Amino acid sequence: DVRVRFCPSPTGNPHVGLIRTALFNWAFARHHGGTLVFRIEDTDSARDSEESYEALLDSMRWLGLDWDEGPAPFDPAASAAPGPHAPYRQSQRMDIYADVAAKLQAAGHAYRCYCTAAELEERREAARAAGKPSGYDGHCRDLSPERIAGYEAEGRDSIVRFRMPDETITFTDVVRGELTFRPENVTDYGIVRANGAPLYTLVNPVDDALMEITHVLRGEDLLSSTPRQIALYRALASIGVGNGTVPEFGHLPYVMGEGNKKLSKRDPQSSLNLYRERGFLPGGLLNYLSLLGWSLSADQDVFTMDEMVAAFDIGDVVANPARFDLKKAEAINADHIRRLDVAAFTEACTPWLAAPHAPWAPEAFDRAAWEAIAPQAQSRLTVLSDITANVDFLFLPEPVSDEASWAKAMKPGADELLRTAREKLAATADWTAEPLKEAVLAAGEAHGLKLGKAQAPVRVAVTGRTVGLPLFESLEVLGRERTLARVDAALS
Ligand code: GLU
Repeated sequence: DVRVRFCPSPTGNPHVGLIRTALFNWAFARHHGGTLVFRIEDTDSARDSEESYEALLDSMRWLGLDWDEGPAPFDPAASAAPGPHAPYRQSQRMDIYADVAAKLQAAGHAYRCYCTAAELEERREAARAAGKPSGYDGHCRDLSPERIAGYEAEGRDSIVRFRMPDETITFTDVVRGELTFRPENVTDYGIVRANGAPLYTLVNPVDDALMEITHVLRGEDLLSSTPRQIALYRALASIGVGNGTVPEFGHLPYVMGEGNKKLSKRDPQSSLNLYRERGFLPGGLLNYLSLLGWSLSADQDVFTMDEMVAAFDIGDVVANPARFDLKKAEAINADHIRRLDVAAFTEACTPWLAAPHAPWAPEAFDRAAWEAIAPQAQSRLTVLSDITANVDFLFLPEPVSDEASWAKAMKPGADELLRTAREKLAATADWTAEPLKEAVLAAGEAHGLKLGKAQAPVRVAVTGRTVGLPLFESLEVLGRERTLARVDAALS
């Protein structure tokens, strides 16, 4: 049975690289009918926050990346138990880590290291100067009881260090193929701080072992910690912690941002909230993120999560860095918006038709007008937040006044055209798009203007903008009275 985990640390806001990792784990679990464990790695109390923890849950729920085991149920209304390996927040598992650290020491897989920072640094410098590997030199590996007693009497601090076996470690990464690490490059490493706090290096593999994780799919930045973790899994198996299997690993490619630099958490483009606030659809954003290292087929960029799950093969993920491309993300999202049925589209836009996104008073919103214009808007949006400016002419008492648009459309002669258009519009008995178009067409003809030129001043007078939804459908929804009043206002 496939068991994978998504195990973020709750620091800051979720970013797209992290979500890509969550997505690939989720798709892998769903494809194989396996289990996705959602674990919170909150052992660093100085950096972790409750706010960030809540944001992680909320983000996963918004995206629809459902988990099977975790600190809370995916459906907030459900009362189901979170899973057989609870708790899933590492801050609540401290006893387990203390116990395992003691067992590792008792079995000789770990030892107390008394080296001070200054001593370590001095020996590292010396090794570097001699052209030797500069990792931990094993100074405290096999201290005599007398030396230990001496250090203790001195009152020295000590950390717990894992003893790396003196052997080459080879594993087959499901993304990258066979990888080999030589022992001189993978030295003994700290697993418990001097103050007793367990480190990521311990708690992450311990929980993978206890939660019976079969595949570790994570970012390439963690590749160098994998040989250390494999040695630790083996040690855990030998002391009976977990079910004794070492998981398989797959390291997902880096995501590159502007200037071909790694997309960083601090890059504003990387914040998940940005996409949510701009009105990306969850399916559109996930579709785009899935392309960061994977593809459904050479000729199909746009697909649903069901299609992704059906086709997802971790062996198809490429090792090359992926480039984050906002324009492409938007284009894919636009496609997802177009694919909604009209009712779903109408509904999906509603947050952007109210405060704090919409500048009009709540009572000015007219549901019927919105439903009438929505089909005109659907094919024109890249993100849902664009809807606000596209329909504000319907709900604001007066059109927005944008000087640049006004100057562009109200060229000399525009007044005469508008006056004629006003007459013809007023004389239109059937206030629907087709006759309204005929009216403006006729007004244009009277002044030797084609429809495009003739409608520009009308559009600016009525909507305040030079570009927008199809004009005559807009006038139809706005209604005779308001349309004529706005043309009059423009002429006065
Ligand atoms: N908490 C770790 C991180 O967010 C998890 C790394 C892993 O997947 O092993 O970096």
